[in-house]
Amino acid sequence: MGNHALLKQINKLLILKTILDNKMISRAKISRLVDLNKATVSNLTDELIKEGYIVEKGYGKSKGGRRPVLLQVNKDVGSIIGIDLGVDYIHVILSNFIGEIIFEEYVNIKMKEPKEKLLNLLFDMIEKAIDKAPPTPKGILGIGIGVPGIVEKESGIVLIAPNLEWKNVHLKSIIEQKFNLPVYIDNEANAGALGEKWFGEWGKVSDLIYLSVGIGLGAGIIIDNKLFRGAAGFAGEVGHTTINFQDDVCSCGNIGCLENFASERALLSIIKKLVKEGAEDRYISCENVDEITPSQIIQAAMDGSRICRMAVLEVAEKMAIGIANLVNIFNPEIVIVGNKASFFGDLFLEKLREAVNQKSFIAQFYDLKIEVSKLKDRAVVLGCIAMVISDMLSFPEYA
Ligand SMILES: [Zn+2]
Repeated sequence: MGNHALLKQINKLLILKTILDNKMISRAKISRLVDLNKATVSNLTDELIKEGYIVEKGYGKSKGGRRPVLLQVNKDVGSIIGIDLGVDYIHVILSNFIGEIIFEEYVNIKMKEPKEKLLNLLFDMIEKAIDKAPPTPKGILGIGIGVPGIVEKESGIVLIAPNLEWKNVHLKSIIEQKFNLPVYIDNEANAGALGEKWFGEWGKVSDLIYLSVGIGLGAGIIIDNKLFRGAAGFAGEVGHTTINFQDDVCSCGNIGCLENFASERALLSIIKKLVKEGAEDRYISCENVDEITPSQIIQAAMDGSRICRMAVLEVAEKMAIGIANLVNIFNPEIVIVGNKASFFGDLFLEKLREAVNQKSFIAQFYDLKIEVSKLKDRAVVLGCIAMVISDMLSFPEYA
């Protein structure tokens, strides 16, 4: 695609996103908001209408003269499938064109299942979502997948997903061949950041960091309203930044990686260590420590388990190191802590805020917000919906 065509697609997406954000809006107002002249906005909105993505819907208030026609995104133009391929779960949604969920399925899986087994489960879940799609003019527009690893976006190859023990998996072509639908793939934390930007509470913020906390840890970084990808598209691997020099080998092969201290995996290992050293209470002892899950630890901490509270506070303290580093480097307006950490509770969040403010060199000089994702564990799947919409418009040969 030439520069001119690419610019046109970018502007078209910008207009679509502006209509989505404003629900009902006139062409004149779009032109003001996106800083494009009225003729360009008019041409591009006409194209979007012809393609079925937006519709004219009623009239706005007149400022003298004719009342302006209002535009709205056509939510029923087609359906989209969003998939969060977690380390120990698969989360699938089917949504309409504006991210309203029509069908949702969340399946917990054992860690390190063989790849074939995982793919078969994924196929079944996609199949089910396809079956639930209502009749629409364009049918299913595409499938977006967030993967816990390093992804080569254009080829759709998962170069490495250490916690899944995947290397060089041609995920995009595997799914495309199976379902004959366009497939778009990205790192799951990037997808989460997109989800926050498109559908979250703080979507208007131009500089934000989304931290995806599950078994592992990753960051999606939005700078000046755009996802920061870096030279090869691998930016944001904060979970594999080094915070000490002597601990166990990480799943990535390195030593002292942050995610071993600031994740669900860390919660489990801290609890095990404490119990091994002789700590026990009403909630946790050597009898149940091997079976306990991260969410049970969080619940026990809320119910008053001293040991589980200690583990939650320690994870917050260590995660604050990673966040303070990110804050020092990127100076975000907000850090949104999401995925499983959306359920870690007030004890965790308060400690996290306190420790980040203490550790970050710059946080004391501005109003840094640290919040839990209001999308809870749906930021990634919704981001995958946004990924399909934006990639589809940016690469129209797929549409
Ligand atoms: Zn690592």
